[in-house]
Amino acid sequence: MLPDIENLLKLQDADKEIRRLQEEIAELPKRVAAIEQKLAGTKAQLERAQASVKADEAARRKQETFIQDFRGKISKYRDQSLEVKTNDQYKALLHEIQFAEKEIAAAEDKILELMLNTDAREKEVKLAQAELKAETAEIEKEKADAHQRTGEDQTQLTEWRAQREQLRGGIDADLLRHYERVAKFRGTGISEAFDHKCTTCQVMLRPQTYNEVRTGQHAVLCDSCQRILYFNPAHELAANKPVAARPRRHHPKMDAKQAWYYRGEYGEAGETYLCFIKNQGQSTRRVYDVHNGRQVGDILIREGEYHAAFPEDLADAIRLNGSWDEADLEAWGALSKPQAKVLLTTCSITFVLEGHSLSWGTRFPSFPGVAV
Ligand SMILES: [Zn+2]
Repeated sequence: MLPDIENLLKLQDADKEIRRLQEEIAELPKRVAAIEQKLAGTKAQLERAQASVKADEAARRKQETFIQDFRGKISKYRDQSLEVKTNDQYKALLHEIQFAEKEIAAAEDKILELMLNTDAREKEVKLAQAELKAETAEIEKEKADAHQRTGEDQTQLTEWRAQREQLRGGIDADLLRHYERVAKFRGTGISEAFDHKCTTCQVMLRPQTYNEVRTGQHAVLCDSCQRILYFNPAHELAANKPVAARPRRHHPKMDAKQAWYYRGEYGEAGETYLCFIKNQGQSTRRVYDVHNGRQVGDILIREGEYHAAFPEDLADAIRLNGSWDEADLEAWGALSKPQAKVLLTTCSITFVLEGHSLSWGTRFPSFPGVAV
C-alpha cells in the first residue's frame, strides 16, 4: 500500500473521530437545555399553586371581616330593639337581624369552601416543590457531567487535530486536496476496492482500474464516486478463507481461477483438453491434444471472464477438474512427448469428469504414466 494511502486512511479515522467529538460537544448543552426547560415548567406550576393559596387566604380574610361587620350590626339592632315604641319598628329591626344572620351563614359556607380548596392547593404546592427539588438535583448532576465530558472531549479533540495536521503534512498535496474536496461533499474521501467493486458506492470497477488499485503503484480514483481507492490484501485473504474451509464440492467452481474442459471435436485437432486461466480481468486459453499432450496452436488472451471471452470453445465442452501451475502448463505444452510423460507423472494431475461415469482408460485414451 502506498504511504500516501496509509496516511489518508489514518486521516479519515482522525476526521471521523473529530466529527464525532464535535457532535458530542454540541449535543451536551442541548440535553441540559431540555432539562432546564422541564425545570422552568415545574417552577411555573409551583408559582401558580402558591399564588392560588394566597388568593384563597385573602378571600377567607375578606369573608371573616364581612362576618364581623354583620355581627356588629346584629348587636346594635338588638340594643335598639329594647328602646322601640311601636310594633312596626320592632318588626323592622327583627327583619334586619334575620338578614344579617343569613349573610353570616353564607359567608361561613364560603369560608368552608375556601378551606377545602386550600387543602388541595397546598398538596399541589408540596408536590411541585418535591419535583423541583429532584429536577434541580438532576440538572446539577447533568451539568457537572456535561462539563466534565466537554472537557475530556476538548482534550481529545485537540489531540486528534494535532494528529490530523501531522498526517496532512505527510500526504501528497494534490491527493490531499482531492481527498478533502470529495470528503466535503460525500462525507468520506477514500474507499476500499474489494471484489471488483468500490465498497462505498458499490459500483463495479473496470478490470484495469481494479488491477491498478491492487498493484498499488499509484493512487487510483473510483470513476463513479471519485473517492480514492485502496486495496486491503488481508481483507481478500479473510474473505477467501471460509471458501477454502468449506467441504469439498462435487462440482468444479464455475468462477475458478483455472478451468479445464474436454472437447471430442476441435477442428483438425480432434479430441482436445482446453485450459482457461483467469488473471487480472483477462482470460487465457490453452489447447492440448488429448493423445499426445502437446499444445495445439498459440496461447490466446482475451479481456474478461473466459465464459464471456471464449463462448465458441465452451459450446460442446465437458467441464473437468484439474489445477496446474502456469509454469508447468508452459513446460508441458512445449515438451516432446517422452518428456511430457515424465512431467505429467510428477505433476500428479487428476481429471474427473463432472457428472459422468467415464474414466481414463475407457473413454479417454489418457496420458501414459498418469495414475488414475
Ligand atoms: Zn465509488
